[in-house]
Amino acid sequence: MLADYPTRPASCNEEEAYMKPFNVFTPRSVSDASLFLEKNQKDARPIAGGTATVIMMKERILAPNYLIDLKKLKHLSYIKFNKVKGLRIGSLTTHRSIETSRAVAENYPALREAFASIGNVRIRNAGTIGGSLAYAEPQCNPPTILAALGAEVVLAGVKGIRRVDAHKFITGIFETKLKPNELITEVRIPRMPSGSSCKFLKFTTRSEEDKPSATIACYLQIDAKHVCSAARLVVGAVGPRIYRCKKSESILIGKRLTNRLLADASEVCTDKIEALDDIYGSPWYKLEISKVLMGRGLHAAWNEIKESQS
Ligand SMILES: Cc1cc2nc3c(=O)[nH]c(=O)nc-3n(C[C@H](O)[C@H](O)[C@H](O)COP(=O)(O)OP(=O)(O)OC[C@H]3O[C@@H](n4cnc5c(N)ncnc54)[C@H](O)[C@@H]3O)c2cc1C
Repeated sequence: MLADYPTRPASCNEEEAYMKPFNVFTPRSVSDASLFLEKNQKDARPIAGGTATVIMMKERILAPNYLIDLKKLKHLSYIKFNKVKGLRIGSLTTHRSIETSRAVAENYPALREAFASIGNVRIRNAGTIGGSLAYAEPQCNPPTILAALGAEVVLAGVKGIRRVDAHKFITGIFETKLKPNELITEVRIPRMPSGSSCKFLKFTTRSEEDKPSATIACYLQIDAKHVCSAARLVVGAVGPRIYRCKKSESILIGKRLTNRLLADASEVCTDKIEALDDIYGSPWYKLEISKVLMGRGLHAAWNEIKESQS
């Protein structure tokens, strides 16, 4: 279904209008939306919460002829938890729904923390998990925590459905593995086994609502013999995409953790990160902040596991 959308008052001519006029396509299903995207690749853009898209359209960074209104696909807004399979979140679920979900708070407290610290409540009421991932702005919290939790992003397009690891989904600033006709439909997060813990920390320089200079998320799993059996350490906001800290992880995996090992792992967590120089801080500053945050996150996760095992 197509509808014209008035973007300017009658008294305002097109040159003065801050947003180019556009049409709204309301799909009845995901396949309806991806077929429309396939047919109108250069001219159409999905819109979910609109918190990023509308700003880009006002700035004329984007000027699509068609917006595909995903919010009408209400069946893509859900949070389902299963003790064996883990968590499934529909792509149109708002940040606020994740922040206030009991299943999330009880089973994935770091996920709650990451969503509760996005911007302000107005942004969280409108913005969606799918929109945040597809937007791929380096400062977004969700990619960092989802990568640490070992999540998968489910994509649906004209050729069917595929799944991509969250830590590989974003490839650069505003760049993802999404093909032109694909939509994000779901995010799947595995269950947290006993002896595991995950932490998320965000650092801003001006106000808590501001976008971060650095975010970190760390997942640790310690077996019955007190040996670290799995680690996923991720740094976000610092470079053009999130970075998995493989060198730090290799310091921890297979060892009995000590303060010294955690300090060594934090010290090298920014290895190979190309830090950006922008309004959120200089490259040196962001890298140093990341190391401090990683040290705090690792200690908090380790302490939580020790308490649960004692
Ligand atoms: C003032 C302000 C402060 C903010 N602070 C933070 C912060 O601290 N931390 C943080 O993480 N984020 C922050 N944000 C960013 C905010 O989280 C994102 O704008 C939001 O997550 C985008 O979601 P949306 O649903 O509004 O996306 P939209 O604006 O609707 O879409 C964004 C992009 O994703 C595409 N898209 C949307 N849904 C899908 C889908 N299902 N499949 C494929 N493509 C899709 C659209 O085509 C578009 O390209 C802030 C934003 C603002 C305006």
